[in-house]
Amino acid sequence: MSGTPAELPEGRFDLAVIGAGATGLWAALCAAEAGGSVCLVSRKPLAESASFHAQGGLAAALEPSDTPELHATDTLAAGRNLCRSPAVDVLTGEAPGIVRDLVDRGMKFDREPDGELSLALEGGHSRRRIIHAGGSRTGRELTGTLARMVADQDGIEVREETSATALWSDGERCHGVITDRGPIASRATLMASGGAAALWRRTSNPWGAIGAGPVIASAAGAELADLEFCQFHPTCISAPDTPTDGALITEAIRGEGAILLDDSGERFTDELAPRDDVTAAILDRIEQQEGREIRLDLGAIPPEKFPSVFAMLEKAGFSPGERPIPVAPGAHYMMGGIAVDLDGRTTLAGLYAAGECACTGVHGANRLASNSLTECFVFGRRAAMAGLDETPAEPGEIPGWRFEPPTAATREAVWNLAGPLRAGSELEQLVGDPYPLAGAIGKTALAREESRGGHRRTDFRETRAVLDHRHLIFLPDGSIEPRRWE
Ligand SMILES: Cc1cc2nc3c(=O)[nH]c(=O)nc-3n(C[C@H](O)[C@H](O)[C@H](O)COP(=O)(O)OP(=O)(O)OC[C@H]3O[C@@H](n4cnc5c(N)ncnc54)[C@H](O)[C@@H]3O)c2cc1C
Repeated sequence: MSGTPAELPEGRFDLAVIGAGATGLWAALCAAEAGGSVCLVSRKPLAESASFHAQGGLAAALEPSDTPELHATDTLAAGRNLCRSPAVDVLTGEAPGIVRDLVDRGMKFDREPDGELSLALEGGHSRRRIIHAGGSRTGRELTGTLARMVADQDGIEVREETSATALWSDGERCHGVITDRGPIASRATLMASGGAAALWRRTSNPWGAIGAGPVIASAAGAELADLEFCQFHPTCISAPDTPTDGALITEAIRGEGAILLDDSGERFTDELAPRDDVTAAILDRIEQQEGREIRLDLGAIPPEKFPSVFAMLEKAGFSPGERPIPVAPGAHYMMGGIAVDLDGRTTLAGLYAAGECACTGVHGANRLASNSLTECFVFGRRAAMAGLDETPAEPGEIPGWRFEPPTAATREAVWNLAGPLRAGSELEQLVGDPYPLAGAIGKTALAREESRGGHRRTDFRETRAVLDHRHLIFLPDGSIEPRRWE
C-alpha cells in the first residue's frame, strides 16, 4: 500500500470507535468505564444513525414463560439455516442482562400499569419480547440516553463532525483511523459505522447507511461476509417520487393487529410470519394483481400506541384511521458486513467491528425482528472489552487510499439489479459498479445460486440444502471463498 510516512499524532488512545449510533455510543461507554481511553469519531447529525430511527424496540426473553433458548429457536428459524448458532446463543443469553443494565442506568422503557416492562410482539417471535420506549420512539430515547451518558464520561473524547476516510493499516495490522480531520492512533479500532441498506434507492434507512465501514475495512485488508443478504422490510410506505417513499411502518403495529390487504380488500398472508415470508407474499400478490399496490389497514390500532407513526403518516397526507396505507418492500437491514468472531475481532489484527456493519452470522439469511438493537449492545460491549486487551504496535505508513461515497447512479443500480427479486443476468451488470460494496454485493449474490431468506433469485427459486451454513467470504483481493460456519 503506498502512502506517506507515519507522523504520530499526539498520544495514542486505547480504543478508537468509528460511528456514534447505539453500538458506538455503548461500546465507547463500556470501554471508558473499564478504564480505557476512548476516541469516538462521530459524524453528525445524530439523526443520521439508524439507531435513532428504530421504532419497534429490542428483543430479550423477559416474559415469565420465555427463555433465551426459545428466543434462540425463533432466531435460528428466521435465519433459514444460515445462522452461526454460537453467536445466537450469545445474543439471546446476554440480552436479558443488557436490558437490566440499561434499566439500572436510567433508561425509561415503556411499562404496563402494574409497573412491569411492556413487551410487544413482532413477526417470527413465539413470545412477547420486544422492549420499547415512547411507543415507537425507541431509537430516539435510547440514543438520547446513551449520548448523555457518553457526554458525562471523562474517558471519552468525542470528535464531532468527523468522518473516517480510511484505516491506518499496513495490510497486516490496524493502528488507528484516518479521518477528514487527520489521523487518530489507537491500540484497537472498533468499526461501528452501521449498515448499508441506503445503497438501495428504495430504503427505510437514513442516507448515512451506505456501508462505508465494510468498504473501508476491506480496503485495509479485512474479510467481509454474507453480502448477498439484505433484508427487505415488507411494510415501507409506497409513495413513489415523494420524500415519504420507503419510510417504515413498524412491524410492532402488525403485532397489535394491523392487517395486509390486496387489491380486492382481502387478507392474503400471515402478517406475523418472519419478514422474508411476508415480503415474498407481498411481491407475489403485487405480481398477481399486475403491479397494483398492497395496503396496510391500521383501522383497529389506537393512534396513542404508536404516536410517531401516526403523526408521520398524517404529515405525509395519509388518513391512517380511515383508509389503509399503500406499502411495498424496501431495503431495511444488511445481514452481511465485516466478518467477525464472537468478540468482534475482524481478520485484520487490531480492527474490531460490531453492530450492523459487522457480520457475526447471528442473523443468518434473514434477521429476526428487533434482534439488531440487541446485537448492538451485546456485541458492542464484547468487542470493546476484547479491544482493550490489544497489545500496542509501532504504526506503519499512512495509506494513500481514501473512501469515496456512492453516486445516485449506484443506488439506482443496486435497487434495480440486486433488489428483493434478482436474476443472474442483472447481477452480472452490478459486478463492475465503481462503488466497491455494490460490486461485491453483485458478485456474492451472483455466486449464491439459490433463494434463501432475503436473497431471492428468479433464476434459482429453490433453497439448496447443500448450501446450509455455507457463507460466502469476500476477500480483500476481490475473490470469493465459501466457508462453513456452524
Ligand atoms: C427506520 C428503522 C427502524 C428500525 N427499527 C428497529 C427496531 O425497532 N429494532 C431493531 O432491533 N432494529 C431496528 N432497526 C435496525 C437498527 O436500528 C440498526 O440495525 C441499528 O440501530 C444499527 O446500529 P449501529 O450502531 O450499528 O449503526 P447506526 O445506528 O447506523 O450508527 C452508525 C453511525 O456511524 C456513522 N458513520 C457511518 N460511516 C461513518 C464514517 N465513515 N465516519 C464516521 N461515522 C460514520 C453513521 O452516520 C451513524 O451515525 C431499524 C432501522 C431503521 C432504519
